[in-house]
Amino acid sequence: MDASSECIVELRNVCKRYGEHVALEDFSLAVRRGEFLTLLGPSGSGKTTLLRLVAGFELPQVGQVLINARDASALPPYHRNVNTVFQHYALFPHLTVFRNVAFGLEQKKLPQAEIRRRVRVILEMVELPGKEDRYPHQLSGGEKQRVALARALVLEPAVLLLDEPLGALDQKLRQQMQVELKRLRERLGITFIFVTHDQEEALVMSDRVAVINRGRLEQVGTGEEIYERPHTHFVAEFMGVENFFEVNCIAHTPEGTRFETAAGHSLWACNSADLPQHAHATLAVRPECVRLTRGLPRENGSRLNVMKGELVESIYEGGRRRWAVRVSNGQRVVVRESNTSRESRPNGEARGAKVYVSWDATKSLVFPRDGSVAR
Ligand code: ADP
Ligand code: MG
Repeated sequence: MDASSECIVELRNVCKRYGEHVALEDFSLAVRRGEFLTLLGPSGSGKTTLLRLVAGFELPQVGQVLINARDASALPPYHRNVNTVFQHYALFPHLTVFRNVAFGLEQKKLPQAEIRRRVRVILEMVELPGKEDRYPHQLSGGEKQRVALARALVLEPAVLLLDEPLGALDQKLRQQMQVELKRLRERLGITFIFVTHDQEEALVMSDRVAVINRGRLEQVGTGEEIYERPHTHFVAEFMGVENFFEVNCIAHTPEGTRFETAAGHSLWACNSADLPQHAHATLAVRPECVRLTRGLPRENGSRLNVMKGELVESIYEGGRRRWAVRVSNGQRVVVRESNTSRESRPNGEARGAKVYVSWDATKSLVFPRDGSVAR
């Protein structure tokens, strides 16, 4: 198989504008055959627009959408072998569950017996047997969601587009559907392009995650890559990193790279040997990688970043506790600690207490300061 046939959908330098508004800009992304790819981004970042371009409901002003390595611009939606599960299900309210699911097959004028058989199989697959004669208003949110899924799957598309399909479900049902969707995809071998603004959902479900911000692709990779090695400030922040320091690159040493904040504080990182000296960068660290101590923490082998400060906030979050510490340059450093590791914590940490925050140099994330992008 050559490289292009491994891709089922590809966007090449796509630009999509609505009037003056640029919804997607110079957007390139290749979706592999059979993968579960998630588009992750905040509201308004262009996720639905991207799905509509793939489905053929919109055409780009610039660039190309390829399906099976062929330019799809002349292909109307119904010839693309791509189906969509819409954000608000878009079920036909006046049709029963059976007729909703059968609709696409009826349009194709398949024999009635064949339609009945296929609808029955798919309703079983989404665990809805016995609900054939109900109308959408007689269904729960989760059931509506399953009908929408069945209606798209019954047409056996090569690609299924799912636009925030779990957004309207409560937490428990949502988690259950996440697992079921994953299983369904494995069973059917269909390529899924799934849209969410929820980073945890993206991590749980996907083979790869594409992070999108203001119509641009920020980063694409496995969930682990996106989480552990964000390439940009935006991706880091979206994936839960809360502490960012503006620094300059001072020197590369065998123990890591030394940076300095504007206030002259040294910070260390281990993953930035390729950064030129004096380069402006952002050094970041996740709240759960920072430790909070009363006394000066001791280095044990590798470089430790240490900052002295004052405790200004302590919030109980159930399984975890979140602390905020104001360090000497006035910046807040957020620390998050699991409550199961409480034994190690001195009791009675109160607001105003003098404390230290510290993290290992290996936990520092470094990326170019906003505006410049290095990949
Ligand atoms: P998302 O799905 O990530 O929330 P969308 O793709 O729906 O984002 O929208 C991206 C941007 O394009 C938004 O700013 C939105 O307001 C704008 N937009 C989307 N559809 C249209 C349209 N038909 N006309 C004008 N602007 C639109
Ligand atoms: Mg949307």
